[in-house]
Amino acid sequence: MADLSAMEIYQELPQTDCGDCNFPTCMAFAMQLANNQVSLDECPHVSEAAEEKLAASSAPPMKIVEIGEGEEALEIGGETVEFRHEEKFQRPTVIGIRLSDAVDEAEIGSRAEEIEELEFERVGEVISVDAVSVTNSSLSPGEFGEFVRKVDENTELPLIVLSEEPKAIEEGLEAIGSGNPLVGRATEENWEEMTELAKEYECPMAVEGESLEELAELTEMITDEGVEDLVLLPEYSKLGDALEKFTRLRRLAIEEEFSPLGYPLMARVENEQNPYQQVAEGASHVLKYCSVLTMDTTKPWQVLPTLATRQHIYVDPQVQSSVDSKLHEVGDPGPTSPVLFTTNFQLTYYSVEGELEDAGFSAYVAVKDTGGLGILNAYADDQLSGEGIVETVREQGAMEKVDHDRLIIPGLVPQLRMSVQEESGWDVEVGPEDAASIPSYLREEW
Ligand code: SF4
Repeated sequence: MADLSAMEIYQELPQTDCGDCNFPTCMAFAMQLANNQVSLDECPHVSEAAEEKLAASSAPPMKIVEIGEGEEALEIGGETVEFRHEEKFQRPTVIGIRLSDAVDEAEIGSRAEEIEELEFERVGEVISVDAVSVTNSSLSPGEFGEFVRKVDENTELPLIVLSEEPKAIEEGLEAIGSGNPLVGRATEENWEEMTELAKEYECPMAVEGESLEELAELTEMITDEGVEDLVLLPEYSKLGDALEKFTRLRRLAIEEEFSPLGYPLMARVENEQNPYQQVAEGASHVLKYCSVLTMDTTKPWQVLPTLATRQHIYVDPQVQSSVDSKLHEVGDPGPTSPVLFTTNFQLTYYSVEGELEDAGFSAYVAVKDTGGLGILNAYADDQLSGEGIVETVREQGAMEKVDHDRLIIPGLVPQLRMSVQEESGWDVEVGPEDAASIPSYLREEW
């Protein structure tokens, strides 16, 4: 609630200190609310008038827009900062894969299936694409409507339906009836007809413009007609131009609170260019500052880097990603399996686990709580010592599970080998420095 101080918020609260919000006083709650740590609906006693006033001043400078409906609905926008060290980015980029109407009708089902299969497990999370972007490049409006209907029948994912031709969008919307797709592209030439359609079907709309001024003029005219769920689609010639425009748009929305540009941003990565360039462009758009990104590929090696970039960017940078500090069993370990030690930094643990699994090794992995720090950071922060390693492995009962006394410690801290060995009496071996070398190390040494 950036606009109001804790005292100003407190004036609007009931001031009964009832504690129903789990804070002892209304002032304590107001302070948390001013810092965006709680939401207003956690106080069940706030009056309607106060709710209206507080809600209006707490509205984010960038509109929140919903695409799709039901369980598959996606929320975008509502961002409040330019840099993620200030605060976490709120709503992850929606990544859609383009399905052009140049595709043969008989292939729609298999293409949609290919898109839905773009799902990967990475550092303990499943990451996947979110939407199908149906684009009109060759069919007549009537044929395009039929094409949209068939795509919709073949996927559960929300749709992004794009054409410059309002009649094609109308046919598409008529064909699917509902589903709250993101439609577009509303331009200087067609915005009135597109706006009518967005209003009639109550769906969000992408607005395309060459300059920031053009985009602002368009959104003002469109909102005057009553359509407010908008997404900005700035035109650009090359990536550098795009990044400059997107950065200026984010600043104008967040810092200047310039409402005509206070909408989520969208970009499209086309497939005419070098395939490696597509990968770089996709990841760059996630970094700066796309809320909707469509890509023109179903190749996993091109899509995964963009999804992985999103996975990294949309976490709270002030909270270390960690896994449970316990004895993890990878595969089906037994008395002769290796025992490894690592820290509870999520990326480190899942890298170790993934390499073991991929190579078909079963092992015990003793994981120490270092507050989510990786090996070297934990060592530099005095959270990793020979004594601490022994204590962790003993507490977790790792050596009791096996009929040997060999413990493998990370190759990044070979200097701890002697102290672990002296403290425990185990046969301590220094493993590789990186997780990718664990399989070859075990093949040679185990
Ligand atoms: S629930 Fe509302 S009235 Fe009660 S202490 Fe919290 S803020 Fe105050």
